[in-house]
Amino acid sequence: MRAADCIFCKLVAQEIPSKIVYQDDHLIAIEDINPVSPIHILLIPRKHIPSLNEAGLDDAALLGHLQLVAAQIAQDQGFAGNGYRLVSNCGKWGGQEVMHLHYHLLGGRKHQWPPG
Ligand code: 5GP
Ligand code: ZN
Repeated sequence: MRAADCIFCKLVAQEIPSKIVYQDDHLIAIEDINPVSPIHILLIPRKHIPSLNEAGLDDAALLGHLQLVAAQIAQDQGFAGNGYRLVSNCGKWGGQEVMHLHYHLLGGRKHQWPPG
């Protein structure tokens, strides 16, 4: 389930401390250490999947759960109405730095399109 020397597996196991926003049997949601928006929350599945490229059909429910929890956090924290961005960077050209699939939940400002 977990990969050796994966920083996000260590965050999930709480071997590295973080500010936890929400957690359940399937995922942990934490504040990003280097926020790019006033609200920047990472949704990290407990299962180690390197990126969306490696996700399979058996991960469909997990991926849906990650998105729905993101929407719920936005509701609970009161920024759903203004809107937000939910992003999963994939691979080198997608700007992914940590090879453990995750979503960024960005809120608290207007986000531009297209992204950089
Ligand atoms: P990626 O570029 O892979 O899509 O995003 C990785 C994210 O993880 C970055 O936004 C980075 O700031 C965040 N990050 C990396 N290491 C840590 C950490 O130890 N704790 C927390 N809370 N966030 C981290
Ligand atoms: Zn991992």
